[in-house]
Amino acid sequence: MQCPVRWNRSSRARHVSLRIDPRAGAVVVTLPPRTARRAGMALLDTHATWVRESLAALAPPTPLAIGASVPVGGLPHRVRAARRTTRQDAWIEKAAINVPGPPEEAAPRILALLRTEARRRIEAVATRHAAVLGVRIAGLRLKDTRSRWGSCAPDGTLAFSWRLVMVPDWVLDYVVAHEVAHLLELNHSPRFWEHVARLSDHRAAAVAWLRAQGPFLLRVGAADAMNG
Ligand SMILES: [Zn+2]
Repeated sequence: MQCPVRWNRSSRARHVSLRIDPRAGAVVVTLPPRTARRAGMALLDTHATWVRESLAALAPPTPLAIGASVPVGGLPHRVRAARRTTRQDAWIEKAAINVPGPPEEAAPRILALLRTEARRRIEAVATRHAAVLGVRIAGLRLKDTRSRWGSCAPDGTLAFSWRLVMVPDWVLDYVVAHEVAHLLELNHSPRFWEHVARLSDHRAAAVAWLRAQGPFLLRVGAADAMNG
């Protein structure tokens, strides 16, 4: 079958399995230890139509490149080549992302900027919410998760997708409120949702926004961002 395949050897896998990774625009074949690739090829053949249709249904990728339009805080930002500058790192100015250096090396600079900006925005919101609930955040990590925008570990460490840098402020406000509220209730009980409601009025709208727009966010920098 002619489609991008990524092989994933997993010590925890019990069976051969397939999934679509929208960030890579590829089908991922997971193999248990000592299972031959042949078994994966057979499964790909069996599900060829599903794989082809799922890949075709993905939103078009937005490259992290000069000329692209990347949302920051829900607003489109044009990626521009920054000439005549002594700066090494990309920066945001008005509605533009300015990238110094050779255009073919723009992707890692844009990604670094988006991650830095994500951390700055998330930290500001998390600090504000934590003060309202009187909780302490043990640590904050950025990830590139496929299906979850945020998570809260039992030790009080919060993790968020760097892609949240792209969402409107009110969506970010809800996602961060949700994880900060887990510092009081590590469950989804009515008490938990009361804490969330104290922090954000946008729960339903934000969930709907992420459901509709999330697939597009996962396609920004599709292949570039894989190692981020
Ligand atoms: Zn939750």
